[in-house]
Amino acid sequence: MRRFFGKQEDGQVVLEGDEFNHLKNVLRLGVGAEILVSLGDENEYACEVRALEKRRAICQIIGKKVCAGNPRKNIVLFQAITKRDKFEFIVQKATEIGVSKIVPFVSQHVIAKVDENKIDRLNTIAVNACKQCERTIPPKIENVKTFDEVLQSFKDFDVVLFANERAEKSDKAKDLKKAQNIAVIVGSEGGFDAKEKDKFTSAGATTVSLGKRILRAETASVAMMSLVSILSEN
Ligand code: SAM
Repeated sequence: MRRFFGKQEDGQVVLEGDEFNHLKNVLRLGVGAEILVSLGDENEYACEVRALEKRRAICQIIGKKVCAGNPRKNIVLFQAITKRDKFEFIVQKATEIGVSKIVPFVSQHVIAKVDENKIDRLNTIAVNACKQCERTIPPKIENVKTFDEVLQSFKDFDVVLFANERAEKSDKAKDLKKAQNIAVIVGSEGGFDAKEKDKFTSAGATTVSLGKRILRAETASVAMMSLVSILSEN
């Protein structure tokens, strides 16, 4: 069954905007069609299309079940901002892999402009990735943070993992199975300077080496997210 994101209104489910357009004009689904709708909570709702109005579809919930695809851990990706196409790729892949929140931030060697990435577009990418990978709760995408704001947020996590391309080796692995709140930090195309790396480790971050090759930021993000999601049994 096709998946959509909708909202609840007076006991019914309403699809509007792109979701309505996709249902009516792309998939050409009509009254009586059965679809799966996410309302942003942990359930997926089986719905029947009951009416197609000018700008929205009205659906009736006919069943619901907990969606198995939502993340079980709170993995937050702190991603130093990259050029737009790379950041959009990172949002899509991190969503598929099970990120709960993405925090863009500025570091010394960032080459992208702070407003390079438009939050609405990133949210649309995340919602579409949720539909494809069958999760109903999209990741939260924050506004761009400063380097110091990232450091200050370390206290909220059981483990903070920092991908360091110049590390000789990784620090002793933490037991991610036991961790519930995990921060993952990945640099931009320009990486981090020595002072920034020192600040991360002094603030308690665990250094992770992804090997002796220098990965693109988007590759490192996917690698780190995959590693952490699997080892933490997300
Ligand atoms: N300009 C940096 C340099 O040449 O040292 C490279 C930065 S790399 C393109 C972007 C980010 O990906 C890095 O900041 C790091 O977080 C991550 N990364 C890339 N390769 C890595 C590796 N082998 N191990 C750990 N992290 C890596």
